[in-house]
Amino acid sequence: MIIIFSDLDGTLLDAESYSYEPAREALKEISTLQIPLVMISSKTKKEIESVRRSLGNTYPFVSENGGGIFVPEGCFPFPVSYARRTGNYLVVESGIPYARLTEFLDRIIREDALPIRGFHSLSVESISRLTGLSIETSSMAKEREYDEPFLFDGDEAQWNRLEKLVESDGLALTRGGRFNHLSGQNDKGTAAGILIDCYRHQYPDALIVGLGDAANDLPFLRMVDYPVLIQRPDGTYEPEIDTPELHHAPHPGPAGWNSAVLELIRKDISTSNQGLNM
Ligand SMILES: [Mg+2]
Repeated sequence: MIIIFSDLDGTLLDAESYSYEPAREALKEISTLQIPLVMISSKTKKEIESVRRSLGNTYPFVSENGGGIFVPEGCFPFPVSYARRTGNYLVVESGIPYARLTEFLDRIIREDALPIRGFHSLSVESISRLTGLSIETSSMAKEREYDEPFLFDGDEAQWNRLEKLVESDGLALTRGGRFNHLSGQNDKGTAAGILIDCYRHQYPDALIVGLGDAANDLPFLRMVDYPVLIQRPDGTYEPEIDTPELHHAPHPGPAGWNSAVLELIRKDISTSNQGLNM
């Protein structure tokens, strides 16, 4: 039994086109074998739901860098701790409510004149232009609950000032490629840990696999049995990711995801066949 935890952008989805087409073969295999695929992303619930729908995926998922953990009702035959029911999901919130994040940003922009532009103050059209996402996806990306991406146009001294303010408010900063992020102290590891516990409880012998491409994936890659680091578009690997037993996918994005997952399924099938023969 294999359970897959995967990042989306730059991992299952191409970093530029956001397509999962090159991972088609592996996606088909895991769907035939009914291998759970749990998506762990910095994307919003709306964006992840759209990817899940197009893949016919019905498994739990984690939104906004660990802020929200969504478990479809009836997924586990036991209650999920700290979960409340919302619609058809049991939800565990480890993130800080969005309004607190945007109030904080508005206050420091007002009081400290820091050159920050948050998602909440950008139009859907601007977000689309900055991210390369379609207008429809940009509007889903704007429906945020636990994490605020923002642009920062200041110098190092201003960034240090921002870090101090964020820290004294008990919030957290992540410096990103296109965007920086303001959130609570949640990360992908804390959130994945809750779901990993559920799966281990249900399937004690399961092999838990994790796939990611960037530093924000490290906390959950450290918790899985079989961590896979996906190549970046330029063929290099994120140097901050150092965890024992790390496997390196041979290609970037979804093509790397495809190779790594197919190899793993073949290995697992051959191991379980050996088991049957003994
Ligand atoms: Mg990524």
